Amino acid sequence: MSNNVLVFAEQRNGVLKRVAFEMLGLGAELAAALGSQVEAVLLGASVDSLPDTLAQYGATRVYVADDPALAVYSSEGYANTLAALIGKVEPGVILIGATAMGKDLAPRLAARLGVGLAPDCTTLAVADGRLVATRPIYAGKALARVRLTGDPQIVTVRPNVLPAPEPDVAKTATVEPVDVAAGDVRARVVEVLAAGEGEIDVAEATVIVAGGRGLGGPEGFDLIRRLARTLNAAVGASRAAVDAGWIDHAHQVGQTGKTVTPDLYIACGISGAIQHLAGMKTAKCIVAVNKDAEAPIFNTADYGIVGDLNVVLPLLDQECQALLAE
Ligand SMILES: Cc1cc2nc3c(=O)[nH]c(=O)nc-3n(C[C@H](O)[C@H](O)[C@H](O)COP(=O)(O)OP(=O)(O)OC[C@H]3O[C@@H](n4cnc5c(N)ncnc54)[C@H](O)[C@@H]3O)c2cc1C
Repeated sequence: MSNNVLVFAEQRNGVLKRVAFEMLGLGAELAAALGSQVEAVLLGASVDSLPDTLAQYGATRVYVADDPALAVYSSEGYANTLAALIGKVEPGVILIGATAMGKDLAPRLAARLGVGLAPDCTTLAVADGRLVATRPIYAGKALARVRLTGDPQIVTVRPNVLPAPEPDVAKTATVEPVDVAAGDVRARVVEVLAAGEGEIDVAEATVIVAGGRGLGGPEGFDLIRRLARTLNAAVGASRAAVDAGWIDHAHQVGQTGKTVTPDLYIACGISGAIQHLAGMKTAKCIVAVNKDAEAPIFNTADYGIVGDLNVVLPLLDQECQALLAE
């Protein structure tokens, strides 16, 4: 076993996910503590320009499985190819983003390799040559520290929690082609329907304007979208708004939605239930707009505006537009 740290560099349509860079930064720290190297593995079709980027973020070697069979994610195709590579290069640690793809891939891979998995971790450290992973449980009310006994140690890392390192254009990596062992694929993706073409994904956004039940109906999201456009922000939502059918689930933030860590999160008409906070309380700055001064969201918010969002949001938008025009 090499004890190297292998980062699964998730990409979609030839664009690397930010979590890949975050994990390369973390992977370099772990590799330094383990006396090993951080490497990356890239699966997809026509992804030959991406290894250079991964090198700039710290990968010393990039394994590339470039094949039309891997153009669209499939659980079995990706797990089969990864398992074959891992059997050959024997990394000590495998880091996978806790994204929709990673949450599907990692358990399948762990089962295939007959090892354990530490899911959705927010901190990783090394003690006595082994990983110690920290993961929030009970919607973030408690933190569990876990160790894995088998090898390789597989961890999924929560996106947007760790900083991504600054890329260094002078850095290079060895690029190694990988045999594609997509194997028997029993389920195929036949169509991908992109939600809200051109909209910013909340999971990747640096500014989010989110709305909840307090919007009063789907038309309330017009106010949210207007402010989001001004701030070049993503549109987020509470589960109450999603369950009411006012907006698609892709926008939901929280325990059963996405975890976000933007620089600015503006929560409008959202009460601040624990399950919503679980997805956004690590935002760097939280602004809450709520007509109830006792709403729990104000206990978490850095700035609170007590008022009717139908009055506050147009004013906020107007002020932001004026400031940005200066
Ligand atoms: C297992 C489980 C998982 C869950 N997962 C999630 C999740 O991922 N994400 C999530 O969000 N929730 C989740 N929930 C639901 C969660 O418990 C809450 O029910 C939900 O977050 C409430 O949404 P809300 O804040 O929009 O609505 P409410 O709690 O009804 O709050 C609406 C707020 O709007 C304010 N308001 C009303 N009118 C106005 C106005 N005109 N101007 C300003 N303010 C106004 C009210 O004062 C109130 O504070 C989960 C629950 C369970 C049990």
